[in-house]
Amino acid sequence: MNKCQVLILLVFGITSIKAQITTTDKGVSNVKESTLAYARNITKTLCSPEYHGRGYVQDGCRKAAKYLLEEFQRIGLTPVNGSHQQTFDIQVNTFPNKCKIRSGFRRKKPGIHYLLHPSSAGYHGNLKLKVFSASDIMNYRFGSSWDRHAAIAFIPDKQLTKDSLKLVRKKLEKIARTDAPVVELTRDKLTWSVSDEAFKFPYIQWFDTISSELPHKIAAQIDEVYLKNYGVQNCFGTVPSIHKSDSFIVVCAHYDHLGRMGRKNYFPGANDNASGIAMMLSLAREIQQRPLQNHNVVFIAFAGEEIGLEGSSYFVNSSAMDLKTISLVLNLDILGSGEDGITVVNGSVYPQYYQSLVQLNESIPAVPVVKVRGKAANSDHYPFSEKGVPAIFIYTMGPNKNYHDINDCYEQLTFDRFENLHYLFLRFLYRF
Ligand SMILES: [Zn+2]
Repeated sequence: MNKCQVLILLVFGITSIKAQITTTDKGVSNVKESTLAYARNITKTLCSPEYHGRGYVQDGCRKAAKYLLEEFQRIGLTPVNGSHQQTFDIQVNTFPNKCKIRSGFRRKKPGIHYLLHPSSAGYHGNLKLKVFSASDIMNYRFGSSWDRHAAIAFIPDKQLTKDSLKLVRKKLEKIARTDAPVVELTRDKLTWSVSDEAFKFPYIQWFDTISSELPHKIAAQIDEVYLKNYGVQNCFGTVPSIHKSDSFIVVCAHYDHLGRMGRKNYFPGANDNASGIAMMLSLAREIQQRPLQNHNVVFIAFAGEEIGLEGSSYFVNSSAMDLKTISLVLNLDILGSGEDGITVVNGSVYPQYYQSLVQLNESIPAVPVVKVRGKAANSDHYPFSEKGVPAIFIYTMGPNKNYHDINDCYEQLTFDRFENLHYLFLRFLYRF
């Protein structure tokens, strides 16, 4: 780093924390939105009902892509190999319309009282529940001609170990896939997901931490639609380096989430990962104004992460970029807290980048701790590092435990260390 860069960083570090006074091209003085205000705005917008939880019901994910492409343009990012996007197809199971369950006179709410298994089939009618023990389920013989209005119900014994419960669940999934409806009582926090598979029968997870009983009968109206070859977009843009260079640094985050479960309920995905997109765009905004000396920076908003890293896998196998030109991938996912620090996945695989973050954090300091983790296939850095491209993934840690549930909403985010982290990442990138 030369003296000029040090000076820029010092000045920049101070001013970026506060709102900056700038002059617009019309010559009128106004207050530039601060990093935090900008990031909050992006997050709030992406979590609003208009984007339907950025899934596949009511084209939430496609609407979010359109919004992001417009934001890339506002920032002034240039295309990557002549384009700002690439489209690829996914297969996905969805619950677009009715999603009503009653037991007796009680109406149950999705996400609070129950979840549909992501691969569940739809169902309209009354389901009689017949309770099976764990060993009944493990000994279940496939091919029995089961009444399609009778569900195999399971109430886990409190003594059942986590591993045994996992095995029972695997078997229940197999049963719903081919043989019979399933209703499972669960005492675990309701954590949803998204699937590219559709079972033949419904599978309902019934949440109850107090009672050890399931109703004898439930009335359900569940509409399910399996989408084949549904096109979604990865969106990208570049800030070219000051001196002409063939080297690229990728800063990425996924913008998709789980979408809607029925017409009325959606999973906002604030921490996961509207917050990461907000960080990526905040970095893009700054780097656009002060590019790196010798590295181009590519910003990528990935689709299809929640369904199995589909967007990043598609990207690394496409010809969008020559992977050999990528010096580093910085993947951002779950950036809304930070009270308890950050974790660097692949930090032990690429110790030089981890050490650089630790050292910078000691001098700032941005967060209480920078933890190291090894290889994990838990976000979009993974397809890159599997192809031999150095890639790290950073997530924040804090008291917010809302993950893949209806409470992962904008109001629950503290953005506690957001500006500090923004500054840390910029200093990290300017070291290149
Ligand atoms: Zn995520």
